[in-house]
Amino acid sequence: MDRIVEFLRLRKTKNLFRILQPANFRKEGKVYFNGKKYIDFSANDYLGLSTHSRLLSATQDALKTFGLGACASRLLSGDSRLHHQLEEKTAIFKGKERGLIFNSGYQANLGIISALCRSGDAIFSDRLNHASIVDGILLSRARLFRFQHNDVTHLELLLKKERNKFKQALIVTETIFSMDGDKCLLKAIVELKERYNCQLLVDEAHATGIFGRSGSGIVEEQGLTERVDLIMGTFSKALGSFGAYVVGEKTIIDYLINSSRSFIYSTALPPAIISANLTSLELVRDEPARRKTLLENAAFFRRELKKRRFSIKGRAQIVPLVLGETKKVISLSRKLRDRGYWVFPIRPPTVPQGQARLRFSLSYDHKREILKKLVSDICSLIHESTLR
Ligand SMILES: *Cc1c(COP(=O)(O)O)cnc(C)c1O
Repeated sequence: MDRIVEFLRLRKTKNLFRILQPANFRKEGKVYFNGKKYIDFSANDYLGLSTHSRLLSATQDALKTFGLGACASRLLSGDSRLHHQLEEKTAIFKGKERGLIFNSGYQANLGIISALCRSGDAIFSDRLNHASIVDGILLSRARLFRFQHNDVTHLELLLKKERNKFKQALIVTETIFSMDGDKCLLKAIVELKERYNCQLLVDEAHATGIFGRSGSGIVEEQGLTERVDLIMGTFSKALGSFGAYVVGEKTIIDYLINSSRSFIYSTALPPAIISANLTSLELVRDEPARRKTLLENAAFFRRELKKRRFSIKGRAQIVPLVLGETKKVISLSRKLRDRGYWVFPIRPPTVPQGQARLRFSLSYDHKREILKKLVSDICSLIHESTLR
């Protein structure tokens, strides 16, 4: 108990204590708290699909037909034709042989990595990879080598030095990074994985639905589908729903069905959610203007910030505004909140010391006038605080 009390005390003194804040509801890029409206730059509903009428009616129809719970895991009686349809559709969408649905992206990474790797294997992982990847690696008991963020020279250095000491090796990276909104150097990574005989798993959580001709992600955009072994992603971000997928060769998918513990030992997703996910994929196909507008607006937002002399990275719908000091960032996020923007400070240890930032997650519903006003609000708030 002492340890717990001490932990909480430390969190509070360091300004890192977290609390839950229940929202009333959300719609069209806005979120309501205590009856007050905020423009939401913290959500991942990038295409604004979570309240799309087609998604909602597909879910309601499936609820009437199938009831709510799946009532068992997939390997018992929780499996349904809808699950198989979604797996087929996802595999086609991503251009791979087979697909498998996981209950969330977190469970997917945990279950995939811990099934693929074991003690005596090596895993090469980008330093900024998501916590679910890190936890999957820990659970696998493989030896972890972290390469500097998006640094293929460092990755190659590690591969050269370490690869031949291990029988099997896996390289893992996100394709769009959640904290910096930057893209991984996929082509270079693919070449390294081939040269050093590794498997490659990529996480398209923030890319699915947005990049590539058919919106399937960065792997498609870069034309590297054939050369990436496993691609995972979630239905919970741009696709506005819930659950996750992995696609790859039939043999690997069969292996995961038989060995991935987070897949085997968890109740299947409700058929209504699966039905929503099927509809999400259709919406990505039928409404490509959403992703086009989103990326154009993100480019506009970055341009406007650069005009005001902010240095802005990346080309994605995630726009980090790096301000440096944690205090500065917390203060700005509070002031923006007072002006009706819901945006969170990202601070160490999530990002390196001296790189505290506000992270803006853009949505299709954030029109240019909103973004323009936001930039001018940011500037006037920063100006105000330096005058004081
Ligand atoms: C959000 C996220 C996940 C987890 O997905 P959930 O479906 O929310 O569990 C995994 N990887 C990355 C990179 C993410 O951003």
